[in-house]
Amino acid sequence: MIKSSIIKRRASKQIMVGNVPVGGDAPISVQSMTNTDTKDVAATVAQVKAIAEAGADIVRISIPDMEAAEAFKEIKKQSPIPVVVDIHFDYRIALKTAEYGADCLRINPGNIGSEARVREVVASAKDHGIPIRIGVNGGSLERDLLERYKEPTPEALVESAMRHIDILEKNNFDQFKVSVKASDVFLAYESYKLLASKIEQPLHLGITEAGGFRRGTIMSAMGLSWLLREGIGDTLRVSLAADPVDEVKVGFDILKVLKLRNRGINFIACPTCSRRGIDVIGVVDALEKRLSDVNDSFDVAIMGCVVNGPGEASHALLGVCGAKNDAIYYEEGKVAGRLPKESLVDELEAKIRNIVAKRQQQTILKI
Ligand code: SF4
Repeated sequence: MIKSSIIKRRASKQIMVGNVPVGGDAPISVQSMTNTDTKDVAATVAQVKAIAEAGADIVRISIPDMEAAEAFKEIKKQSPIPVVVDIHFDYRIALKTAEYGADCLRINPGNIGSEARVREVVASAKDHGIPIRIGVNGGSLERDLLERYKEPTPEALVESAMRHIDILEKNNFDQFKVSVKASDVFLAYESYKLLASKIEQPLHLGITEAGGFRRGTIMSAMGLSWLLREGIGDTLRVSLAADPVDEVKVGFDILKVLKLRNRGINFIACPTCSRRGIDVIGVVDALEKRLSDVNDSFDVAIMGCVVNGPGEASHALLGVCGAKNDAIYYEEGKVAGRLPKESLVDELEAKIRNIVAKRQQQTILKI
């Protein structure tokens, strides 16, 4: 079994979003975005906290107007993770939110008007020591590019990104990351690849408008994994028309599968069939919910019977496989006892938490 990722990441420049490094040799960060009304401070703070508890490194909040900018001031004070403010067109909102402690401005310099305004925003970002994310989207390309290229193409998306990049570079500003998102996975893939060959700044990956939970998860897993497999991508957001907490979970799952990052227990489970001795689906579902707060990461195998069970359970740190009257329990590759079916979830949760606590203790002792 290949234990660590064989992916060689693209060498990119590192920037800081608050205390989170993005690019270079930093772990690929996972982001999500609130979908509350930003002006509703209590609801937005609650969602930011839920997103952070799910493990997100960075959260993005849209700031459509000055009232939202004022609400952001309070939200930022209560956010446990760095906040990117999402701003379109209005440079005054960028200045205001930078003053209120934004950790990154998501704004396209080509869309904010005169050179003087751009200079002001860049000067503010420099003064506050915060980066900018340029976000090009296949759905909102400049009209002249659409006329010339006829439709959103990788070349058109990248040309749009390069225009914004040129403006920042003319202002001697290199603390930026870039995204070229599209809702078509082929378009997004080719666009990011082309962009990666042209700049050294970190790339923020995303498949935009990917759809609801199921379709969006599949689209994102496919599009993002093609890029990540080629070493492209320094931070990502999975866009789902669903709970933002799910975006975080799916983001980590994509990185886990590629062995690029770990968070949470990896449940290895069989699909079950009529040979199953235990309710694998129910047990996995319950454990995933109960253990969603766990940051530590190791394999736990939940297998239905002794056909494939012993192999998987003995390769995981901890595992069970169903038998006629109970479940055979494995720890560190060896049979370590039997567990009753009725209390399997409780017993496994306790055993997993026990291992997590032991590993934490060992880490503390090492430090
Ligand atoms: S491990 Fe057993 S229960 Fe699970 S799918 Fe295979 S044969 Fe069926």
